[in-house]
Amino acid sequence: CTQVLHPLLRLCTDSLSDHVSHLEQYINSMEKLSVNCHSNGETEVGSAFFRLADFSKELLSPMKNQVSRLSDEALNVCVCVCVCMCVCSKQVEKEKRELARQYGMVRSEVSGGEIAEELEKERRSFQLSMCEYLIKVNEIKTKRGVDLLQNLIKHYHSHNKYELTHTPGASGCQLRQEEEKRQLCVLRDQLRPVVHTDQDSLPKQVYSMHQLLGDKQYGTERSGFLYKKSDGLRKMWQKRKCSVHNCYLTIAHATPNKPPTRLNLLTCQVKPSVEDKKCFDLISHNRTYHFLAEDEAECVAWISVLSNSKQEALSVALDGGRKGGGGPESSVEDLTRAITDDIRRMPGNNNCCDCGAPDPGWLSTNLGILTCIECSGIHREMGVHVSRIQSLSLDSLGTSDLLLARNVGNSGFNEILEANLLSPSLKPSQHSHMAERKDFILSKYQDVHFVRRGHNSASALRLGLQEATKSCDIYSLIQLYAQKTELSQPLHAHIQEKGETALHLAVLLADRTSLHILDFLAQNCSNVDAQTSAGNTALHYSCLHNKSDCVKLLLRARANPHISNTHTHTHTPIINILYPTLSAAEIFFHLSSKREKHCKNMFSWFSW
Ligand SMILES: [Zn+2]
Repeated sequence: CTQVLHPLLRLCTDSLSDHVSHLEQYINSMEKLSVNCHSNGETEVGSAFFRLADFSKELLSPMKNQVSRLSDEALNVCVCVCVCMCVCSKQVEKEKRELARQYGMVRSEVSGGEIAEELEKERRSFQLSMCEYLIKVNEIKTKRGVDLLQNLIKHYHSHNKYELTHTPGASGCQLRQEEEKRQLCVLRDQLRPVVHTDQDSLPKQVYSMHQLLGDKQYGTERSGFLYKKSDGLRKMWQKRKCSVHNCYLTIAHATPNKPPTRLNLLTCQVKPSVEDKKCFDLISHNRTYHFLAEDEAECVAWISVLSNSKQEALSVALDGGRKGGGGPESSVEDLTRAITDDIRRMPGNNNCCDCGAPDPGWLSTNLGILTCIECSGIHREMGVHVSRIQSLSLDSLGTSDLLLARNVGNSGFNEILEANLLSPSLKPSQHSHMAERKDFILSKYQDVHFVRRGHNSASALRLGLQEATKSCDIYSLIQLYAQKTELSQPLHAHIQEKGETALHLAVLLADRTSLHILDFLAQNCSNVDAQTSAGNTALHYSCLHNKSDCVKLLLRARANPHISNTHTHTHTPIINILYPTLSAAEIFFHLSSKREKHCKNMFSWFSW
């Protein structure tokens, strides 16, 4: 009997302790998962896992206690049974011997049947007590087992409930991930055929600067017939005479007295059709034109000519628009318009920087922010040393005027200039009176009243100025400017000559991506003509390093080209860069008397 009972009990307790150790592993892995999630940036899910692990730990210790109690009890039961059985069997032996002795001694008194009967009775009573014992053990086991089971069920129920109620982030996260996956799949399905088309039919084409490059052998001009899908409901293919000339696609109408449609290719995108190799699309700013060519070769030719023509116009524009003529000039206008549109879409630029009025149309070119017409008036009153106001639509802005606006924007600017504004309700609204606006704008710009100020020493500010210039960090520069840091002070360390200012440093480090740093410093520093120990101004540096964009920006900020340095590098290098064809006398004339007008033309195109 013990042989059966003991392994059974062992099995039961073993499986329970197995369960406990599994639970421990489970908690461990949940903690690991939590750490992983945290390091992957999914803090919501991570902390949910962590809470779950904590919760499971709380459940673990009572369960451990229960299991150890159960195994102790099982052991006790086992020992009891063994002892009892030993005692019983000994007693039986003893009684047997006693009976035998009695039988031997008084053989006539006790019959064999009687002894057998007695033995049988003894055996039965032992069996009965054993049976009762086993029933007791069974009851204990059942009770314990059911209790444990119920606890486990409760445990898993609470797990379930916990997950549902305490981890809404997880389900939200899952939804987000699924949505993202769905979008990515859609995108992939859209992209796949395009890539295949390119590989299959137009192997020579490559994408460069987001432009489709055409096969150069087809040139930049072409005329002939194309089928254009009508824009009405019937979607008919209509045969139209088309021509590409000077970056324009002209589409004739069926009725000869109606003027043809002219599309500026600079603002259009050419796209080969995915389904039909004889078709292509031309996407303008407000419409998509579907074209069908006679055959595939014709289609390739048209696509190439359209792309080449656009490419040519772009490179003419990049050349500085020097060639003149209608085409390139309007291209520059288109580019300016495109940049202006970009600026309007920047964060915060849909509202006036000061009063929040919608669709602000005025630009502060030295601060890079947009204001409404009322606020722009107060900006003008403050003077050009604070804010230089131009109209986005009325003034013919050069691309250089947009340089700072393209890199600052109302939101980023206000995060600095209004950092300490206690409540947004202190700002004027679009319905505020002029006096209220004026109070606020003077406090904001002249007194820089709402700027957060650290307790920075003069040397810390100087170091900050150097770092901000070096790392091309426009917002750090604005913060320093707002803290009234002297932007023209000599920096702590120099690259070439002692006494270099942030402006000198900006010239030395300038490339196409960092010109706005130079522009901000040139327009907002107190002395654009600060000289190094060798007498070089930032303008000298620009000339010495052949940085014509820097020269233009500095002249626009009224840098003086007549200052001499100690090595007799005067303004001659400036002349060499800017006007290789003009005589020195002409240049003096331009730079002095006609500077204002000339600058306007000079900056109509500006390389970015
Ligand atoms: Zn305003």
